[in-house]
Amino acid sequence: MSRIASVLLPMPLPEAFDYAEPEGMALEPGDQVAVPLGPRLIRGVVVELRDALGGNRPLKPVAERLDDPRLPPGTVAFVQWAARYAVDAPGQPLAIALRGARAPKPRPVRVVELTGAPPARSTPARTKVLAAAATPMPPADLARAAGVSSGVVKGLIDEGVLATREVVAEARFDAPDLSLTGATLNESQAAAADALKAAAVAGFGVTLLDGVTGSGKTEVYLEAAAAALAADPEAQVLILLPEIALTQAVIARVAARFGAQPGEWHSDVAPPARRRVWEAVAAGACRIVVGARSALFLPFRRLKLIVVDEEHDGSFKQEEGFIYHARDLAVVRGRIEDAAVVLASATPSLESLRNAETGRYAWLRLSARHGTAQLPDITLIDLRQTPPEAGRWLSPPLVAAMAETWARGEQTLLFLNRRGYAPLVLCKACGERLCAPDTDSWLVEHRYTGRLVCHLTGFSMPKPAACPHCGAKDSLVSIGPGVERVEEEARALFPDARIAVFSSDTVFDAREARRMVETMAAGEIDILVATQAAAKGHNFPNLTLVGVVDADLGLRGGDLRAAERTYQLLAQATGRAGRRDRPGRALLQTYAPEHAVMQALKAQDRDAFVAAEMGERELAGLPPFGRLAAVVASGPDIAQLDAFVQGMAQAAPNTPGVEVYGPADAPLGLIRGRRRKRFLVRADRGVDLSAYMAAWRARVRPPGQIRVAIDIDPYSFL
Ligand code: ADP
Repeated sequence: MSRIASVLLPMPLPEAFDYAEPEGMALEPGDQVAVPLGPRLIRGVVVELRDALGGNRPLKPVAERLDDPRLPPGTVAFVQWAARYAVDAPGQPLAIALRGARAPKPRPVRVVELTGAPPARSTPARTKVLAAAATPMPPADLARAAGVSSGVVKGLIDEGVLATREVVAEARFDAPDLSLTGATLNESQAAAADALKAAAVAGFGVTLLDGVTGSGKTEVYLEAAAAALAADPEAQVLILLPEIALTQAVIARVAARFGAQPGEWHSDVAPPARRRVWEAVAAGACRIVVGARSALFLPFRRLKLIVVDEEHDGSFKQEEGFIYHARDLAVVRGRIEDAAVVLASATPSLESLRNAETGRYAWLRLSARHGTAQLPDITLIDLRQTPPEAGRWLSPPLVAAMAETWARGEQTLLFLNRRGYAPLVLCKACGERLCAPDTDSWLVEHRYTGRLVCHLTGFSMPKPAACPHCGAKDSLVSIGPGVERVEEEARALFPDARIAVFSSDTVFDAREARRMVETMAAGEIDILVATQAAAKGHNFPNLTLVGVVDADLGLRGGDLRAAERTYQLLAQATGRAGRRDRPGRALLQTYAPEHAVMQALKAQDRDAFVAAEMGERELAGLPPFGRLAAVVASGPDIAQLDAFVQGMAQAAPNTPGVEVYGPADAPLGLIRGRRRKRFLVRADRGVDLSAYMAAWRARVRPPGQIRVAIDIDPYSFL
C-alpha cells in the first residue's frame, strides 16, 4: 500500500503538509526531503508516515530524499512541543532547528603534499620546504611556514615533488579525554559535585545549582558533564550561555578540562562552521556543545545533560520571530530526551527558586567563594549627599576609590548598562528631544561614529549641526551618560591609565570579546568601562573595584521584574571584584539608597530580598505564582488597529482563573512605522495558558496589514 508523508516546512504555516511517498523511497520520520510548494522545491522534514487509504484527492509526491542527516525523534518532538507552547506555527522552531542543515557546506581548500619524488636539485630553501611539507597545507601557508618565497613552493609543484589536492576541512571533534581530571574540589564543591554527578546519569530531573559568584559552579558542573560522558560512550552534553563573550571563556575551560574542543554554536559562528557542528551533533561525533540559546534546537542523538549557566539571564529569552525562553525550553527538551538539566546561577530567577522551594527541582547551594577569595564589600554612595560635579557622572567617593585602586596597581570596572555617549539629545532652544523618524524611541548619541542611533531598530543618522525641529544652530546638547561619556571622564581624571570600553559597539564578535577578556585578565587594562557584556561570569584576578555608575537605571522601567533584574545584574557586576586573594569592593551610585534592592545588595542578603519579592508576587498572583501571556497587535493604520483590538477584546474566551487586561497603548507605541497595542493575560498556575491563547487566537481574523504576536511568559512589557 502506498503511504502519505506529512512534511513540516520551515516557514510560518499552520501545519504539516501531506505528500505521496514515491515507490521505493522508504522514508522514515525525521528524514529531510525536498517537496514542491507552488512552483518551488522546499526543504522539509517528514514528521509522520501513514498508509494512504485511497479515495482521497491525489497528492503531489515528495521530490527527493535529501542526503542530509535525519532529525532524531527527540528533536522533532521538541520542535512540535515548542510550537504548541509558544502558540506559533511549528515551522518557526523547525526553521531554527534546520539553521545548521541549511547553511552552506564548507568549501574545499587546495593543499600541497609530498609526492615522494625527489627534487632535481637541493637548496637550503627547498630543504626547508620539504621539511615543513610533512603536514599538508595551502601553498601560501607552506611558504610562510618554511620561511621561503612562494616561488620555491611553486617550483617544487612544477617539478612534481609536491602535488596539490582539494580537501574539505574535516570537522575535528575529538572525543573528550575522560582520563583528565578537574580542579581538586573543596569540601562543599565536592558534595555538590557528587550530587550533580549522580543526577547527570539518572535521566530527567532538574537541579538548581545556586552558588555565589566565584564559588566554583563551573568546576562543579564540568564534573557532572564528565560523569555523563563517562557513563555512556555516546552521551552528549549541552552547555547554554547567555552571551557570546561568555561562551568563549567556557569553551576554553571545557577544552582544558576534556582535552577536546567543544562544538561552538551562536550567531557569530560562520555558516560553514555551523553546518559542521550541526552535522557532527546529528552524527553523534560532537559530544559537547557550548552555545547560545538556539543550540537547544540542535539535532542531538543522545543528549544526556543540559546546563543552563546564568539561568536567570534575560538574554535567554528570544523576543523576535519565534518567541521562547531557552531556560524553560531546556527543561522541556530534557524531559523529552530523558536528560538531566542543571540551572546554574548566583542569582537564580524567582521562577527557578520557587521550583526549588517546592521541591520540584533539586537545590544545591554553594555559599562561599573558593579558597581565600572573599565576596566584595558593598557600599552605597548616596548621590544626593555626594553628587558628581556638574556635567560629570563619577562622584568624589568613587573617584577617590579609583585613585587608590590605581595606585595599588589594581583594576577598576565601571559598570553602566548603556551603550553610546548620551541616551538623549535635546535642543536647548526649543526643547525638542531627537527621536527616530518611525519609532517611539530617543536617538542615542554615539561619539565614536558621530551618529545618532535608534537602539531599537538600528536606524542611524549623522548628528545634525542644527536642530531639525526649530533650525537653531549649535543648540543640541547631550543629556545623560553612556559608556563612551564615562570613558571620556575617566580619561580626563586618569590621563595615564589604560582605559577601554567593553560594549557591543566596541566588541563586535566572539574573537574580539575573547581578546578583550584576555587583555583584562592579563592586567593590561587599568579601567574597564563596560555594559553588561563584561559584567557577567568572567574572572578577572586583579580586579578589586567595581563602580556602578547608575545603580537605579534598571528600576526606572518599573515592570514586573525590574527589582529582580536590577538585583541580579548588580549582584553579578559587583561579584566581579576580588575573585582571587585580594579583597574587592563595590561602590554603587544611587539616588535611592533606601530601596529594598540597594539594601539587599549592601547587606548581601539575597534571601531576604527574594522573600520580600516573592511575597509581593504571591499577593498579586504574578509569576512564579501565576502565569502571564502578552499579545501585541501592530499595524500601520491606527483606526484599523483600534477597531481590530476592540474586536479582539470581545473575542477573548471566558475561562475561570484567567483575566485579560487591555487593549492598551504599548509603552513603545510606534516601531518602524507600525502602531502597537497590547493585552496582558494573567492566569492561575493550573490553567493551560497556551491552549487558552490558541483558542483566543483562532477566534480572530486579523486584516492583512495587522500582525498579532503572542508572548507566553513575557519578559518584555514594552
Ligand atoms: P562560578 O562559576 O561559581 O562563578 P568558577 O567555577 O568560575 O565559579 O570559579 C571561580 C574561579 O575559582 C575560577 O577561576 C576557578 O578556576 C577557580 N576555582 C573554583 N574552584 C576551584 C578549585 N576547587 N580549585 C582551584 N580553583 C578553583
